[in-house]
Amino acid sequence: MESNKTFTMIKPDAVANGHIGAILDKITSNGFKIVALKYTALSAEKAGEFYSVHKERPFYKDLVSFMSSGPIVAAILEKDNAIEDYRKLIGATDPSKAEPGTIRNLFAKSIDANAVHGSDSDENAAIEGNFFFSAFERF
Ligand code: UDP
Ligand code: MG
Repeated sequence: MESNKTFTMIKPDAVANGHIGAILDKITSNGFKIVALKYTALSAEKAGEFYSVHKERPFYKDLVSFMSSGPIVAAILEKDNAIEDYRKLIGATDPSKAEPGTIRNLFAKSIDANAVHGSDSDENAAIEGNFFFSAFERF
């Protein structure tokens, strides 16, 4: 299992608000290399599959509908200690609790529309990266 990779999405709110460029700049200027990158959209079915670990949670239905509401950017990122360092860079799930300067503090407005996704483990980073990217799309 690789411990130097994570998976991220720029969520529909941040895309709609024009933050793709600023968020990619935050990512690369903090030492993450972009291994794979895609501008795409999730159908409700695909969003439900991606977030199936949360299917018993009260926010699942709204989350699926939000994540399929517009285009997203998906990416695989590489850096030593990628999972932990990227979670630190994005900040808390609730942007009102995210540290100043974090991506969610700067670009997110609410706990559901919180600008970015970041994998929580090496295992999930591999599963999530494979959900979007083939071997030919990684560099
Ligand atoms: N979420 C939500 N309400 C909550 C908790 C989470 O709408 O009370 C959404 C939010 O978009 C979050 C996603 O569900 O990013 C996945 O939740 P998780 O607890 O995994 O947070 P994350 O890992 O994204 O910080
Ligand atoms: Mg999570």
